[in-house]
Amino acid sequence: MIEVVPIPQLRDNYAYLVIDSDTKKAGVIDCAEVAPVLAEIDRRQVEVVALLPTHHHYDHVGGHEDFLRVHRVEVFAYAGQRQRIPGCTREVQEGDEIPIGHLVARVIFIPAHTTGHVAYYFPEEHVVFTGDTLFVAGCGRLFEGDAATMMASLQKLASLPDETQVYCGHEYSQKNLEFALQLEPHNAALRQKYERVLALRAQGLPTVPSTIAEEKATNPFLRWHSAELQANLRRIDPNLGNDPVEIFAKVRALKDTF
Ligand code: ZN
Ligand code: FE
Repeated sequence: MIEVVPIPQLRDNYAYLVIDSDTKKAGVIDCAEVAPVLAEIDRRQVEVVALLPTHHHYDHVGGHEDFLRVHRVEVFAYAGQRQRIPGCTREVQEGDEIPIGHLVARVIFIPAHTTGHVAYYFPEEHVVFTGDTLFVAGCGRLFEGDAATMMASLQKLASLPDETQVYCGHEYSQKNLEFALQLEPHNAALRQKYERVLALRAQGLPTVPSTIAEEKATNPFLRWHSAELQANLRRIDPNLGNDPVEIFAKVRALKDTF
C-alpha cells in the first residue's frame, strides 16, 4: 500500500514522503528543506531509501546535502544531470523503475521547465509526482525548453489513466484557477474545482492530489482544443492561428504576466 504525505517546504513548495506501508520503506520527492522532512520520518518511523528529485532547482533539491549527512541513501538524477543534483548516486532514463520497498516508481522524462525534468509514476497505485511541469490547473515556466517540448511533456502525463492522482511541486492552485477562469468562464468543471480549492485553502489544507481526469477538464495548458478558450484568446490576439502549439504558447505567455 502506498501512503503519500505532503510536507510543506519554503514558501509554497511541497516535498512528498512516499511510504510503502508494508515494509515501512520510503522515498522523498523534492527535498528542499530538511528539518520538516526529518521530523515526518521520525514521527512515522519509516526508513528512507531514496531521494527522488523531479529537477535540479534549489527549491527541489536544496535539502539534499543536509539530508545525506543524517541518512545515506540513493539519490537519483536524469541521465546527464548528475552535476546538477547534489549527492547524485545514480542516473536514470525514461521507463527505468526504482524500487521503494514493494512499491515501484517509474521514470517519465518530461523536459521543458528544465532539460532534465522527470516525473515519478507509480503504475500499480496510479500516483504521479509531476514537479514543476504539471501543476494543478497550470504548468511550469519554459526555462530550458520551448512550447512544443512542454506540450509534448504535458501530453505524456495526460495520457496516464484518468484516475491517476497528481501531486505537483508547488501550491499554486488558487491563482492558476483564477487565470484559467478568465479563459473559460463557462467551464462548469473549472468553477467546481475553484470552489473546492478555495474551501481547502480556507482550512489551510493542500489542494493536492488532483487527478489526470480533473486536469484534462480544467487545466488551460491541456485545453488548447476548447472553443471557449480559443475564442477568448482571439479576443486578445485576433491574429492567433489554429496551430495547437501556437495556442498553447499564447496561454503560456499570458500566464507569465498574470
Ligand atoms: Zn523549478
Ligand atoms: Fe519549483
